[in-house]
Amino acid sequence: MHAILGSHRKTFKGEPLPIDCPMCHEQGAWGIPRHLEERLLLFHLIPLFTFNTDFIDCQTCGEALTLRGCRMQDVYQLSPEELSARLQPYVSAVGRFCVIASLALFCCPFVMPIIAVIGFFLTRRHKTWRRLAIVGICLSSVVTVIAILSLIFVRNP
Ligand SMILES: [Zn+2]
Repeated sequence: MHAILGSHRKTFKGEPLPIDCPMCHEQGAWGIPRHLEERLLLFHLIPLFTFNTDFIDCQTCGEALTLRGCRMQDVYQLSPEELSARLQPYVSAVGRFCVIASLALFCCPFVMPIIAVIGFFLTRRHKTWRRLAIVGICLSSVVTVIAILSLIFVRNP
């Protein structure tokens, strides 16, 4: 992936079940439950965080849908209505982390614009996260430009 941040993934799959897909709107499409363990690595070596996410992969459109508020093994007990209320398009946890980091630490020049851009690419399919990522890119870029200008100014008074 990238030189600074990488992610390491492990997945476990469940038995297929019928779902109402919110992406392609297919009723009774086959979905395969999947558990994802995603580790955020600094310089591909140092683990920073581990995220656990449960999904259902729609076999009709191929989209990964996140399960909100329940785990992969619990989906077989839900009614089709309960299940479809819990399905939403997937946004990478690493992407969300990058977006939040770029917003919280936008005043760190040079590094944050890169993290904000990674966040944008990983979350671009989700409207809200994409907008937040753009805000992060703008804020951190302005700070970086100011930092570059002040470096030039300090070296050449
Ligand atoms: Zn679908």
